[in-house]
Amino acid sequence: QHSSAGDARPRSSSLYQEALQHIVGGVNSPSRSFKAVGGGAPVFMKRGQGAYFWDEDGNRYIDYLAAYGPVILGHAHPHVTAAIVRAAENGTLYGTPTELEIRFARMLKEAIPSLDKVRFVNSGTEAVMTTIRVARAYTGRSKIIKFAGCYHGHSDLVLVAAGSGPSTLGIPDSAGIPVSIAHEVITVPFNDPKALDEALARWGDDVAAVMVEPIVGNFGMVMPQPGFLEALCGAARRNGSLVIYDEVITAFRFHYGAASTFAGLPAGTDYAAIEPDLTALGKIIGGGLPIGAYGGRAEIMSQVAPLGPAYQAGTMAGNPASISAGIACLEALSEPGTYERLDRLGAMLEEGLAAAAAQHGIPLTINRIRGALSTHFCSHPVTNYEEAQDTDGESFASFFRHMLAEGVCLAPSKYEAWFTTTAHTEADIAYTIEAANRAFARMK
Ligand code: PMP
Repeated sequence: QHSSAGDARPRSSSLYQEALQHIVGGVNSPSRSFKAVGGGAPVFMKRGQGAYFWDEDGNRYIDYLAAYGPVILGHAHPHVTAAIVRAAENGTLYGTPTELEIRFARMLKEAIPSLDKVRFVNSGTEAVMTTIRVARAYTGRSKIIKFAGCYHGHSDLVLVAAGSGPSTLGIPDSAGIPVSIAHEVITVPFNDPKALDEALARWGDDVAAVMVEPIVGNFGMVMPQPGFLEALCGAARRNGSLVIYDEVITAFRFHYGAASTFAGLPAGTDYAAIEPDLTALGKIIGGGLPIGAYGGRAEIMSQVAPLGPAYQAGTMAGNPASISAGIACLEALSEPGTYERLDRLGAMLEEGLAAAAAQHGIPLTINRIRGALSTHFCSHPVTNYEEAQDTDGESFASFFRHMLAEGVCLAPSKYEAWFTTTAHTEADIAYTIEAANRAFARMK
C-alpha cells in the first residue's frame, strides 16, 4: 500500500539540522538540496527496493529520481547486488589490471561501435573532463564549444552556462573558475546550427572540440531537431574540430547502446554522419556504483598515457566492484523487452499526466523519450535552454511538494527528468497519475 507521506518527516528535519553542522549545506551534491523547490529539509532516505525507497520516518515513495539516472533497474536489483557482493568478497581494489575490465570494455564496444578504445574512470565529470584534454592534445587547439543548458559535470571548463544543478541554483557560472578558463569556452544555443556556424567562423582556428548531449537530459529531455546533429558534426569536421558526445545520461537509456545510434532519433537521421570522435559515459554503466568511462577513435585515444602525452589516471579506476555492477546492469538491460517495457511505462505516465493537467487547466509540456520524461509548466514547446528556463518554477515546486506528500519522489528541480525503471509496475504508474490529479487539483 502507498502510505501517503504527507509532511510528516520529523526525522528528515532533525537529520538535516545535524547534517548542516557537519556537511556543507547538509548535502553532498547541491542538486539534492530543496533550495529550488522552496527550501527546507530534503528527504533522508534509508532503504531502497525495486521502484520504491523509504525515508528515515518510514514513509514509502515511488522513485522517479532513480538517483539522477543510474538506477534504471530499480533499487537492489538481485543480479547487480549479487555481482557487487561477489566482487567485495574477492577484495574491492587491487591497483592492477583485471580480466573484468576487458570484459566490460568489450561489452561497451559491442553496444557502441564508435568506441575503438575505452578508459574507465570514476564519474561522469572525470570522463568529460578527460575527453576535452584528449581533444586538445590531439588537435593542438584550446577552445571548446558547448551548448547552453547542457550540463557536463563540475570540471572548470564545462561549468560555464551549465544547466541542471547550477541553473537551478541560479549560478550560471561557478566562482573559483578563472576568467582565463571561461575564455576557452564558447556557449551556443542547442538546436541552432546557425549559431554554431557563427561561433566557428569567429573562433574556429582555436576550437579543439564541439561537445554536446546528443539528446539533452539536463534541461528536461530534449530531442535534437532533424538535421541538427548532422549540421553540428559537419561544421565541426570542416573546421578540424572533434565531436564529443556526452552520453552520461543517455547511453543505455533508450536502447541497448548510445543515443547516437538510437533508432528513435528524428526520421531521416544520417547515422554515419553523426558518429562522434569521442564519447563520455557514466551513470547507468556503473549499475549504481561510481563509474565513468570515455572512449572513441583509436588514433585519438592513443593520445592517452601510457601510449601518448595526455595524462589521466585513477586509483579507483576500473575497480572490480563498479565494473562488476556495470556488467550485471548491462546484462539485465540486454534482456529482450527491457526498453519496450520502459517505453510502455513512460507512455502511460505521459498520457496520464497530460490528461490530468488538461483536466485541471494547468499548462504542461511533456517531453518524453522512452522511459525518460520531463514536465515543463508552460504552454510552449521546450526545444532549447531558453524555453526550458521560461517555465513556471513555482508551479513545479508546488507540484513537487504535493507529489512528495503523496509518496511520489521526483527530482527537486524543474530541469530534471523523471525516469521509469524496469521495477516500476503499471499499478505504480496508475497511482502516480491519481496522485498527480490530486496535486493539480490542490494547485489551482
Ligand atoms: N554529463 C552529463 C550529461 C550529466 O548529466 C552528468 C551528471 N548529471 C555529468 C556529466 C556528470 O556526471 P557525475 O555526476 O557522475 O560526475
